[in-house]
Amino acid sequence: MHALSAPTYEDVVDAAQRIEGIAHRTPVLTSTTANERTGASLFFKCENFQRMGAFKFRGAYNAISHFDAEQRTAGVLTYSSGNHAQAIALSARLAGIHATIVMPHDAPAAKVAATKGYGGEVITYDRYTENREDIGRRLAQERGMTLIPPYDHPHVIAGQGTAVKELIDEMGPLDFLFVCLGGGGLLAGSALSAAALSPQCRVIGVEPEAGNDGQQSLAKGEIVHIDVPHTIADGAASTHLGNYNFPIIKRNVAQIVTVSDAQLIDTMKFFAQRMKIVVEPTGCLAAAALLEKVVPVEGKRVGVLISGGNVDLQRLGEFLR
Ligand SMILES: *Cc1c(COP(=O)(O)O)cnc(C)c1O
Repeated sequence: MHALSAPTYEDVVDAAQRIEGIAHRTPVLTSTTANERTGASLFFKCENFQRMGAFKFRGAYNAISHFDAEQRTAGVLTYSSGNHAQAIALSARLAGIHATIVMPHDAPAAKVAATKGYGGEVITYDRYTENREDIGRRLAQERGMTLIPPYDHPHVIAGQGTAVKELIDEMGPLDFLFVCLGGGGLLAGSALSAAALSPQCRVIGVEPEAGNDGQQSLAKGEIVHIDVPHTIADGAASTHLGNYNFPIIKRNVAQIVTVSDAQLIDTMKFFAQRMKIVVEPTGCLAAAALLEKVVPVEGKRVGVLISGGNVDLQRLGEFLR
């Protein structure tokens, strides 16, 4: 397949039309307590209420909506043990096409079950001896399926950008935007929307302390690879930014900051107790940087991405105890 060109804000607008009426237009919540704690006006864009529980549905559905007849017949393939797997499985079912998901053989049973529940075919591999990207490429080639990776893809980035488009369309211009950062699909898409709709807005990416490859990459001016980080933010345990993502982040993101796992747990508690919402650890990254005052924002209008709410009940109980 030919290489796709870098995504632009026009692609975000196109994605917004493709997902309209299919993805949820998620609510924007406010909290007097959060505002008092930060001295700012915070607007929380709640993608924990998105279909399948995270923003990833936006990018996955947008990518599949671009398939031609031949691609639709062969189906979609991806590798992921997390929210992208469920997003692809659900999007494929809605589009009436076959989805194959490559997952580690020791992936949490609940995640495998959720992916199968959406109709996805799960193929397992041994993550200690096999490489998921090699398996993905081989299967895609053998079966003629189209591989949609979790973040390094123009249609995925454009789809993820629709959440911040909705946020700014609804709330007006922002001074700051805080975004959870893994491989950079959400951050790159969000930055495209912010640059187009609120050009003065400072976009801040937030990573787990243990996996600050994005921060290192921005400082070095090139993509830095790290070992798989140990963090409770499993959705941001990526080892490097994507090739499509990095140039957009370099151009449009002011700063990348980090938060600790302890700060993520405090933020999960804040969401449960004060705002009555369930947010997964990764989904707390952006809010944690604000509530823990990693970046001062007094007197400012601040957008905050809550990226997802998929957390095992047992683990949630342990975190909140
Ligand atoms: C995937 C994911 C992220 C990170 O998104 P990237 O596009 O990889 O940067 C953040 N939060 C949640 C809940 C996710 O599922």
